[in-house]
Amino acid sequence: MTGKATRKPHSVTQTALSPAAYSKELEDDLRQWRRDFHRNPELKFEEFRTAARIADHLDALGYEVRVGAQVMDSGAIFDLDAESVAKAYDEVRETTRSHERLDLMKGGLTGVVGDLRMGAEPGPTVALRVDMDALPIMEAATHMHRPARDGFSSAIDHRMHACGHDGHMAIGMGVAAVMARMKPTTRGNVRLIFQPGEEGACGGAAALVAKGVADDVDALLCVHLGLGVPTGEIVTRAEFLATSKYRVTLSGMPAHVTNDPQGGRNALLAAAAAAMAIHSIAPSSQGWFSVNVGVLHAGEAQGICPSYAMMELGFWTENDVVHEYVDNRIDEILDGVAMSWGVRSEKKLIGRAPATSQDADLAELVGAAAAGVTGVRNVIPTAECRAGEDAFCLIERVRERGKKGLYMLIGSDLAGGHHAQDFDFDEQSLVHGVAVVSEALTAILSREST
Ligand SMILES: [Zn+2]
Repeated sequence: MTGKATRKPHSVTQTALSPAAYSKELEDDLRQWRRDFHRNPELKFEEFRTAARIADHLDALGYEVRVGAQVMDSGAIFDLDAESVAKAYDEVRETTRSHERLDLMKGGLTGVVGDLRMGAEPGPTVALRVDMDALPIMEAATHMHRPARDGFSSAIDHRMHACGHDGHMAIGMGVAAVMARMKPTTRGNVRLIFQPGEEGACGGAAALVAKGVADDVDALLCVHLGLGVPTGEIVTRAEFLATSKYRVTLSGMPAHVTNDPQGGRNALLAAAAAAMAIHSIAPSSQGWFSVNVGVLHAGEAQGICPSYAMMELGFWTENDVVHEYVDNRIDEILDGVAMSWGVRSEKKLIGRAPATSQDADLAELVGAAAAGVTGVRNVIPTAECRAGEDAFCLIERVRERGKKGLYMLIGSDLAGGHHAQDFDFDEQSLVHGVAVVSEALTAILSREST
């Protein structure tokens, strides 16, 4: 990622009543919350335990809490492992006493939304979105890895918070606590959106959008830790790539490979030809893109003409024009391959995130709020991230209605890279995250409501 640094001065006028001061008091809680989530990672749409913990926390702070089917439309989820989700649901149900909320989450609707009306007067609705899911990674057990050394590494094999979403949720819970304390002195409405299923852009955000969670939001902030930004730095506007992901199924015809080879229709070779052709799509003068066929399964046995193939592919583009170009080329390749190999091809969308633009004036206001926070030594206006991020489904919806959205990065020194088995971040950045977001939300509320 890249970014131009602009140094801003420290604030020296922080009072005991500032959101940043309240954030500092939460330092121990934030570490504890993060470590609890880290020990108990749950994969996309299986965040039942996680969601229950968050809902209880918001409840205790006086938020109006909605979960599951109240905030997500299951029809908008692109892809979900129903069997695995059902198993995770049953496991959590067995160990939970209150089933009312859990029942609303059945089928993977693990989103949580909390609303808090501030003070007595009406005003704008400001929102924070954080993500909740872990990854299917076996966490490093070496003493070099701090979660292992300090006894809070994942309790479940092949499950790990290896992207920082455990930290994002801790930040969300911290912001909830700070804004509850700000309630008497400000107005409007604060909404905390805890989104499941971010990895793979498989529809966690789309399901929230489809249920209208972003429809009455005046300003939406989204955050991510790390991504190459060190502790003490904040990026106010991080730009991501547009992305789509497909599962392609090719169906041919089985046949004896020596008795009747001409009677077969080879789906394996068709898929291999398609994979080669997709990786050979010509560059576009209208922008950068990258494509990857990441999965290819095919065939039944060595003596049978392979009648079945399945591949999963994704592509990432820096703008919508190039996105459409690659999308169309993939369709042409699949049609061509189907025709020349005599197979049938079916393409299913399993993930999507747009590359929506963001609001410069909101970025400026957030930057000014961030610059006043103790420990923040650098506020960087923009940075480019070579990844997709489905928070932009929510930002896109907010902006469609003429309101504002922003994606920020909270700098954090990392051990190991994102999605690596030795990933870890600097927990000091949790306080920065809570302070920056709470200061920003408070500033937006006071600006918009006066
Ligand atoms: Zn992430």
